[in-house]
Amino acid sequence: MLIVQKYGGSSIATMDKIFSVAERIIDTKKKVNDVVVVLSAQGDTTDELINKTMQIDKNVTERELSMLLATGEQQSVALMTMAINKLGYSAVSLTGIQAGIYSTNQYTNARIIDIDTKRIKLELKENNIVVITGFQGSTLQGEITTLGRVGSDTTAVAIGAKLGARLCEIYTDVEGVYTADPRIIKNAVKLNEVSHDEMLELATLGAKVLHNRSVELARKYNITLEVRSSMSNNKGTIVKGSSSLESMVVSGIVVDTEVAR
Ligand code: ADP
Ligand code: ASP
Ligand code: MG
Repeated sequence: MLIVQKYGGSSIATMDKIFSVAERIIDTKKKVNDVVVVLSAQGDTTDELINKTMQIDKNVTERELSMLLATGEQQSVALMTMAINKLGYSAVSLTGIQAGIYSTNQYTNARIIDIDTKRIKLELKENNIVVITGFQGSTLQGEITTLGRVGSDTTAVAIGAKLGARLCEIYTDVEGVYTADPRIIKNAVKLNEVSHDEMLELATLGAKVLHNRSVELARKYNITLEVRSSMSNNKGTIVKGSSSLESMVVSGIVVDTEVAR
């Protein structure tokens, strides 16, 4: 069995958190053969890097901005892999290009075109936990691109889609998806389950707990997402395709009508 896990920046912000996530990854590896982990940049690293560029020019080139921002995720995967190794397990870190993630050439807002999973599969076969940079891609010419803010979720789901994962776990700093941002709305309620469509609506309205493009991909490839906390063992929110009888009947009628025409 294969599992894809993504950890957001807040979940790996300090060395203590890196070690606690490394332990969680190892616990997963004890239960499941193939473990692929996608990481964001630590804490506020991406914002800090952007602030540095502001001290140079508000209009730095997109190419150099992408080159710089991609380094945040690269630090995370190297540190996490070292921590996993230290705890006695074998792991390997991969950048976007090493993981075969090919994208369009819009440097800071690139879209994934395809993933050549050869290297990832090889590393899994070698029994390595594979730790991949979120947010990063590469053009066919080897130019480093980034997928737009919050893009690591999309990396994780795209890898899950290509490897045929049925479940992708998204670890974050809240217990799941709420009716509203729980940090702002105190009486927001945690949802046990939402459909891809409902989640897409929430993400499009600005719930940055999931990148809207990651939800679109999950819907397209029928991947179930579980949004949960990296700081507890509580169940999170399941995001999956709605398979209610009503929607099946409705699509059945549509098909009949088309055939009848
Ligand atoms: P990560 O570092 O794990 O990627 P993000 O900061 O990108 O985390 O996303 C998690 C944050 O999303 C939460 O801390 C929360 O403040 C915010 N958020 C906004 N809307 C929602 C919502 N409807 N449900 C849960 N979290 C939400
Ligand atoms: N590090 C990037 C960002 O802060 C991508 C991500 O975290 O998903 O936007
Ligand atoms: Mg995020």
